[in-house]
Amino acid sequence: MSSLPINPPPRLLMGPGPINADPRVLRAMSAQLIGQYDPAMTDYMTETQALYRQVWATTNEATLLVDGTSRAGIEAAIVSLVKPGDRVLVPVFGRFGHLLVEIAERAGADVHTIETEWGQVFPVSVIANAIARVKPRLLAVVYGDTATTMNQPLDELGEICARHGALFYTDATASLGGNDFAMDAWGLDAATAGLQKCLSGPSGSAPISLSERAVAVIRGRTKVEAGIALETDEASPDVIRSNYFDLGQILDYWGPRRLNHHTEATSMLYGARECARIILAEGRQAVIDRHALAGLAMLAGVQGLGLQVFGDVTHKMNNVVAVEIPAGIDGDRARAALLADFGVEIGTSFGPLAGRVWRIGTMGYNARKDAVLTTLAALENVLRRGGVRAGTSGAGVDAALEVYEG
Ligand SMILES: *Cc1c(COP(=O)(O)O)cnc(C)c1O
Repeated sequence: MSSLPINPPPRLLMGPGPINADPRVLRAMSAQLIGQYDPAMTDYMTETQALYRQVWATTNEATLLVDGTSRAGIEAAIVSLVKPGDRVLVPVFGRFGHLLVEIAERAGADVHTIETEWGQVFPVSVIANAIARVKPRLLAVVYGDTATTMNQPLDELGEICARHGALFYTDATASLGGNDFAMDAWGLDAATAGLQKCLSGPSGSAPISLSERAVAVIRGRTKVEAGIALETDEASPDVIRSNYFDLGQILDYWGPRRLNHHTEATSMLYGARECARIILAEGRQAVIDRHALAGLAMLAGVQGLGLQVFGDVTHKMNNVVAVEIPAGIDGDRARAALLADFGVEIGTSFGPLAGRVWRIGTMGYNARKDAVLTTLAALENVLRRGGVRAGTSGAGVDAALEVYEG
């Protein structure tokens, strides 16, 4: 059987991720491979670490990539920091909080949760009280949860964790690059991300940064070096229960000793390095501001179309909005029409929001005026053909333009 070359249809990806990669990232990824200890390769690795220190706003030496999608970074952080029996506190405000719970449980942790309704975030005092009550070894909290579009404020939690001797980890996959983020100023011990949201790359590489405190915990559990056990006590409860996600070994691979662990995913490294390079060339704050503007314009645009926005808008992530599907419209059919007739993809929803809201993203390479306006024009047409006529014709595009021209 013969098959055709890969030739995907043209799409404008305006969902909650993945989004279209910046063409410069795709070009970087098509560069030829080199050996993993070629000085050119180890230089690229070192440069990538320096670039991501700026993206994370950290001086953490232990700033690197985990090979795999964002979930690989999350799992590496949790299995490397948490021993069986350790107490972990997870404030759950959306789908990805449940993922942190599941991974921590699989790591054998004694997991405690607090929950709030989807569309809300936790007041700091509620998390602070839970930390005082549970006394966790690790606080694991999602920053921006694309399932609900909420950004949990993190800036005051580091100090509270430090006071209670807890490590502080966040999954910043969906928010890094498009929303305020300050690894060091917020007192984070570990943070992980992926490329396919605000960083303008494909999924498949997980940037991670670890504080000295986190590295010390991981070092205390590293019992294997370059695949050879350093201790014979295999039953040691301290041993990190994963080889691939053993951050001790991964740190030794990225560090000056360059001890082989895996073979760094060379093309993904090229891509991840280009993502960071592009952001820093535009300016870290300028990129966040561009996301804030595109997010405001999309919000004004959907409101201009007469649509209701889901959740606490004051805590909405810059890069995604959840819109109530109007009565009389079949959400999936409307999304299918957007895709088939306009090549525009928007997102569906999970769990309690399934069938209730669409999620529309403005992130990374697509946090652009033309992408926002095209999406709103297409959405208005699909709504009108579905029998919903809200406001005057063109009201969505006009409202968004007003934000851009304001
Ligand atoms: C999108 C998203 C992920 C995605 O994980 P992948 O493994 O890259 O699919 C993880 N966490 C959050 C909060 C997200 O929004």
